[in-house]
Amino acid sequence: DLKIIYFVTPTYPRPEQVPELTRLAHTLMHVPRLHWIVADDQPICSEEVSNILRRTGLPYTHISSPKPFIYKGTNFPRGVANRRAALTWLQENVNDGVLYFGDDDNTVDLQLFDEIRLTKKVSMFPVGLIGDYGVSSPVVKEGKVVGFFDSWPGSRLFAVDMAGFAVNIEFLKPSANMPYIAGHEEDRFLVSLGLKMEDIEPLAANCSKILVWHTKTVKYKKPTLRLDIKKIDSVAA
Ligand code: UDP
Ligand code: MN
Repeated sequence: DLKIIYFVTPTYPRPEQVPELTRLAHTLMHVPRLHWIVADDQPICSEEVSNILRRTGLPYTHISSPKPFIYKGTNFPRGVANRRAALTWLQENVNDGVLYFGDDDNTVDLQLFDEIRLTKKVSMFPVGLIGDYGVSSPVVKEGKVVGFFDSWPGSRLFAVDMAGFAVNIEFLKPSANMPYIAGHEEDRFLVSLGLKMEDIEPLAANCSKILVWHTKTVKYKKPTLRLDIKKIDSVAA
């Protein structure tokens, strides 16, 4: 039987949210045996997000867990409270399958799902369009991960992006946790699993292919998205 992929997406309200989630939904609808966990960064699950989820026909879980109010500005840990809530949900409800953290704005090749589904402990692969090098990737030698190519090493044991790894849920220890430390979420999470370099399974043709991209949408800067009635009237006149 195909293992179920639990695709965990943290998301928060802004003008780009519905289009990002619509596009991601249309990717995920092509994937068999996928359960979408969408974790809303606000006190209650939003109606807009619920509507998108319902219309996919996918099995899904919609949970909400707002970030602590001290996190605002630009360089705060993004999507941590909600990813943590998803982790707790998985620990309480699931004991088999594969976990993948897929942000609402990333772009994923369908081939990635076939590959991560076979993850035994932790698999890793390159992420495109990220950092100063344009790619973040494990370095593979003779089929083994021996280091990381990433423009921000940041004294991390595992210098990877959130989109650059998948975890077999049997390997998800009760100690699994993600800290509120910007830039260190991935590394600390993987360390909390007790991951060792020799456990890492390189995917995407020994990390020579890019199957996921850290795409970013330009922020919509206009003050409002509401139709401007006065302008419509003046055009109509
Ligand atoms: N996110 C969130 N709350 C926030 C900011 C971001 O839940 O206040 C989510 C966002 O929807 C995305 C993930 O966290 O799925 C990463 O955020 P973003 O894409 O803004 O960060 P970047 O890709 O620039 O690191
Ligand atoms: Mn992003």
